[in-house]
Amino acid sequence: MLEALGIDPETADARETLMRQAVPASIYTDAEQAASESRIPAAATEAEALDELRALASANIVHRSMIGLGYYGTVTPSVIQRNVLENPSWYTAYTPYQPEISQGRLEALINFQTMVSDLTGLTTANASMLDESTAVAEAMLLARRAVRVKSNVFVVDSDALPQTKAVLATRAAALDIELVECDLGGGEELPEEAFGAFIQYPGASGRITDPSAAIEAVHAMGGLAIVAADLLALTLLRSPGSLGADVAVGTTQRFGVPMGFGGPHAGYMAVRKGLERQLPGRLVGVSVDAEGRPAYRLALQTREQHIRREKATSNICTAQVLLAVMAAMYAVYHGPEGLRHIADSIARKAALFAGWLRADGVDVVHDRYFDTVQVRVPDAAEKIVAQAREQFGILLRYVDADTVGISVDETTTIGELNSVSALFTDRDAHAFAFVAGAERAIPKPLERTDDYLTHPVFHSYHSETAMMRYLKQLADRDYALDRGMIPLGSCTMKLNAATEMAAITWPEFAQLHPFAPADDVAGSLELIKQLESWLADITGYDAVSLQPNAGSQGELAGLLAIRGYHLSRGDQQRTVCLIPSSAHGTNAASAVLAGMKVVVVACDDQGNVDVDDLRAKIEQHAETLSALMITYPSTHGVYEEQVVEITAAVHDAGGQVYVDGANLNALMGFARFGELGGDVSHLNLHKTFAIPHGGGGPGVGPVAAKAHLAEFLPGHPGAQSAEHAGGYVFRGGAVSAAPYGSAGVLPISWAYVRMMGLDGLRQSTAAAVLSANYIAERLREHYPVLYTGEQGRVAHECILDLRPLREETGITVDDVAKRLIDYGFHAPTMSFPVPGTLMVEPTESEDLAEIDRFIEAMVGIRREAEAVASGTYPADDNPLVNAPHTAASATATTWEHPYSREEAVYPVDSLVATKYWPPVRRIDQAYGDRNLMCACPPIDAFAS
Ligand SMILES: *Cc1c(COP(=O)(O)O)cnc(C)c1O
Repeated sequence: MLEALGIDPETADARETLMRQAVPASIYTDAEQAASESRIPAAATEAEALDELRALASANIVHRSMIGLGYYGTVTPSVIQRNVLENPSWYTAYTPYQPEISQGRLEALINFQTMVSDLTGLTTANASMLDESTAVAEAMLLARRAVRVKSNVFVVDSDALPQTKAVLATRAAALDIELVECDLGGGEELPEEAFGAFIQYPGASGRITDPSAAIEAVHAMGGLAIVAADLLALTLLRSPGSLGADVAVGTTQRFGVPMGFGGPHAGYMAVRKGLERQLPGRLVGVSVDAEGRPAYRLALQTREQHIRREKATSNICTAQVLLAVMAAMYAVYHGPEGLRHIADSIARKAALFAGWLRADGVDVVHDRYFDTVQVRVPDAAEKIVAQAREQFGILLRYVDADTVGISVDETTTIGELNSVSALFTDRDAHAFAFVAGAERAIPKPLERTDDYLTHPVFHSYHSETAMMRYLKQLADRDYALDRGMIPLGSCTMKLNAATEMAAITWPEFAQLHPFAPADDVAGSLELIKQLESWLADITGYDAVSLQPNAGSQGELAGLLAIRGYHLSRGDQQRTVCLIPSSAHGTNAASAVLAGMKVVVVACDDQGNVDVDDLRAKIEQHAETLSALMITYPSTHGVYEEQVVEITAAVHDAGGQVYVDGANLNALMGFARFGELGGDVSHLNLHKTFAIPHGGGGPGVGPVAAKAHLAEFLPGHPGAQSAEHAGGYVFRGGAVSAAPYGSAGVLPISWAYVRMMGLDGLRQSTAAAVLSANYIAERLREHYPVLYTGEQGRVAHECILDLRPLREETGITVDDVAKRLIDYGFHAPTMSFPVPGTLMVEPTESEDLAEIDRFIEAMVGIRREAEAVASGTYPADDNPLVNAPHTAASATATTWEHPYSREEAVYPVDSLVATKYWPPVRRIDQAYGDRNLMCACPPIDAFAS
């Protein structure tokens, strides 16, 4: 590979030579210098890393949680754990932007949407939200977009989850929304005017009241009614939709997804008819392929940030796909009767428990509840909570000095409830037994009577054999990293090593409640601190928060830190955020959510920030400049020479610099954001740090900052420790439901850094840059490489310009992407950041054979396009415009194309043995948006 670049591989430091050509001298750090600045330990072997993880795990204590508050014990069916969570066919897939090779996970996600839409009684559900609290915040913003009411007041149920109140407060403050808390369940009147109201159903206290009156009241003033509902409770309770709600939100955690010390889990959102175009997040819809057969794909993408930028419906990009798949499969496996049985058993256990206490004269606070019972114990709450933990290993919720909360879940046993009851009464703890036919404490008028999950998919896979085969069948339709390279620019798709994945299902990490006492989670807190300090070292920042659960949320947290900093200095007027035209769409959307005004900075012909335009914009907005958001290396895959000059210009004008860290894979060990002039950055652990992409999530988007911004990083009312690595205390508002976000997957990134060591990270960066430059060099004569640095080198990705090809041959970037499927590849990133181009990022994980196979495919496609230009193939009937070719199309009785069946499906010989067969032909995107359908289609739609 080095030889192809004209570098003698025999010379010492041959790769270092390449890196010196690629990375500007002004920022280049050599190995010795990098090591001197780092506290990252030398690389551990796989066995050593696992031993250390076991030691950290054993410092956690897994107690049975009855804390509730949106996180519950749940039984992950083994068939789902093994065949989804632990199966690379599911967890290494990319976001389904290429729908023809993503039909399996798209079907799983449409099952998720159907499940949510059925249970909430609303027409359209997305797949998915980042967690319940951010889903409520997004719903609040949806309401503000959707209604004409002038008011800036949003009503919050006083019985809402505390973490949701915290996230709402953060998000509302940035946008001048006034939150008014109201005891809606207690019948308190709403304020005079509001653009929306949010009701928790059942409440955080467990209480169930009829939300209809509050819904009517908010409708009467022209606002929207948002209900956060427990999805499992909805198998027994009347749906929010049937009660008049406009939007329902919540989490699907208790559908078989372990608590994981806070996440990841899939949040959900469903809306009534008429609001679907306002939905944030990903929406799967049904369309048709080139042969008119139904096929799934992402719908209404024109709402999203990569197209609408600062006008997008939200900044959510990475969502929680893998967890949504698990939750959907939990419903598929149990079916409606199974879910109802689980919920019914929970509700009756809770009622029985309350009955025992009441019979003994104990003061149970509410009469109507699903799974949560609150008990009044004057001045004894602390003592009882401590006793429960010490005597029985059970965690109860400390509500206040006089009140204890007990939440029953799928895993709670009668024995455990017996034990807990003994803390409140003098009775013999074993005096109680389960009474068959015990009454649930759900209000009769709110009992659910309508059907749900009636689609055959929820009635067909209730045996393990059937379930295992269904999951295999779906996985077989998809292309993930277990089949071959996914050369996506901007979304580093590297190996997710098996050893890195090992610990996430260990109970010591998977079964922790996010609000468990600090003593129970010492191992996780230590792991978090170590990872924080390593990420600080890698980036050249001082403080790191792991709370944001996607890159987009890290952006928001970082911009809010900048906002907090300016406000603390009395600079209220600093609200302008400069963003280069080439930026990722989330940048602009996040700036808007942070209450900033976006001003676009031009890029020059080389793809660099146009420094003259930047200086002009800085001057024009000198008084109001808040921040510059810049991506480094740039989204064009180039290390800009002038980065230090650019960041200095912003600082001189009193602004702060946000460096988008999604491209850190091109920099680790060679340069640090903090030293380029960055004040704050987010990283994408699901790109650079080996957390699998999961088909579109989970993600972790840590926000890293210099010391002067540290106190404005996200804090959390439920955090076990206010102190973070380096001794910093974070006082900013919460941006996620859980204090440490998606803590359950942090062992993956911990293991990655631990097994690489700084030197390994540095070598992997060089390998990634070498691979990208090798591809650029080999393909240059077939497709122009759009941008390079001063010495002709790209960074970790390269942009292939397909616009000349289109001019010469009529073949589009879409045709090339779809033809790559026939060659056994996932297409690179299409038309970002430049329309009509492909951005290729091979990563350090692909070996030469796979990279050469990709080059062979791209060269073959070029040859085919030339055959179109020369007239060998007609423009409307050739292997490119007809791609991809399914097995059915290649074996059709009649074949009237000017190319052979073999050319169609085996364009290179090696495919005969290794072929991936796409299940559908090219999908008609526009049809699906015109005929929006976002739930499981009837089975007969697939009859040919
Ligand atoms: C992926 C990406 C983001 C957004 O990260 P998510 O985790 O998808 O929210 C932001 N900026 C750039 C440049 C990216 O590539």
